[in-house]
Amino acid sequence: MQRIVVLGGGESGCGAAVLARKKGFDVFLSDMGVIAAKYKKMLRQWDIPYEEGLHTPEKILDADRVVKSPGIPDKAPMVRALRERGVPVVSEIEFAAPYVSGRTICITGSNGKTTTTTLIYEILRRAGRKVALTGNIGLSFALAVAEGGYDWYVVEMSSFQLDGCFDFRADVAVLMNITPDHLDRYEYKLQNYVDSKFRIVRNQRPEDRFIYCADDPLTAENLPSRTLGMRTLPFTVAGAAGCAASLDGGTLRAEVDGRRVEIGLDELKIKGMHNACNAMAASLAALCAGVEPETVREALRAFSGVEHRLERCGTVDGVEYINDSKATNVDSVWYALESMTRPVVWIAGGTDKGNDYARLYPLAEKKVRTLVCMGVDNAKLLEAFAGRVPQIVDTHSIEEAMAAARRSARPGDAVLLSPACASFDLFKNYEERGREFKEWVLTLARSV
Ligand code: ADP
Repeated sequence: MQRIVVLGGGESGCGAAVLARKKGFDVFLSDMGVIAAKYKKMLRQWDIPYEEGLHTPEKILDADRVVKSPGIPDKAPMVRALRERGVPVVSEIEFAAPYVSGRTICITGSNGKTTTTTLIYEILRRAGRKVALTGNIGLSFALAVAEGGYDWYVVEMSSFQLDGCFDFRADVAVLMNITPDHLDRYEYKLQNYVDSKFRIVRNQRPEDRFIYCADDPLTAENLPSRTLGMRTLPFTVAGAAGCAASLDGGTLRAEVDGRRVEIGLDELKIKGMHNACNAMAASLAALCAGVEPETVREALRAFSGVEHRLERCGTVDGVEYINDSKATNVDSVWYALESMTRPVVWIAGGTDKGNDYARLYPLAEKKVRTLVCMGVDNAKLLEAFAGRVPQIVDTHSIEEAMAAARRSARPGDAVLLSPACASFDLFKNYEERGREFKEWVLTLARSV
């Protein structure tokens, strides 16, 4: 019996372990950290042996194949040791792919993955398809495959997931954009990160589809050598020629095989050019899955976005509060600022991932009234925006930041939490940061 060892006991690892058990492998799971109670329960239910707090070499190195969770870097000593021995190390998605009975729509990109993935899922659900929401959000792909019974798997794929994919093939691949992110995991070489994203089209056949953004320079530059044979469906908001989806004035159009979706941007609840991109990509993917244009339109109209992504959380004293806590890089903040129609009190800061803020200068100069820096160390932000916005405030907690934002905002303004940074200096994660922001707004609304 083949032995499968799974490294990492989170959603992805446990999903892979359950699938491996169901398929009759000898399975063992090992996690260097603590395994959450719900996953331990799952492992016990399936009678899967596991260890936590360590990796025992004797239990791991004799594996026939190892499934590595995306959070574990390639340079981790155990991964290195496995590779040296020639043991194949694959991602959960690669492991699960051969057992899929339905078809896959796989979404990657630096920004917009979750929004687009969720939107595609919502459209397919509305169309009555048996569809699973998987990957970085929802169920792990492997667990959904283990459950079975789905016609479609909509899979959000990070570059870390893609790195461990070799034979995996997407029926419909979606690449939203490529902007520098996570370079620490790619030896600070942008090309390595680009190559990782393009793994989404590996193994695609002529009948498969590749949806991508024609306006994205890094995608366009790298395209010619990658798109071999599959059918390409580019989308554009900048008016690029020959695209399957584009904007005509305020109308979004997407067309596949003569079936066309048309919808006014003002009919969408999700705002901004980036969300127009997300809506185009989702419409094209849904049309590829055979969904009727009218159903796509209805679902687009109903979709109000995903929590922590330009989430409107209320107006107090004429000031609108917007939670964009998921904006953890410069590019996503660019889109957030671009979509603002009111003067902005902008809350930013946290753990800097090597940001270059220059791209934000023109928008900040035009739209930001006050920059509230919120982080343990704000030196870089303070320096970058000194003299570029009328006011900068240096704060080190959510309470201080919110008080400063409230003081500075005038009726008609927007207070935008769009940090451009990771959250780990002051918060457990971006969700906690967003929730605390929203709670603060709620408390404020009750007090006036
Ligand atoms: P991801 O899953 O790739 O992180 P999300 O949908 O969660 O993407 O959005 C993350 C952040 O990026 C949000 O703050 C949002 O405002 C911004 N964003 C969403 N879609 C796009 C896009 N197509 N291009 C650029 N930024 C985007």
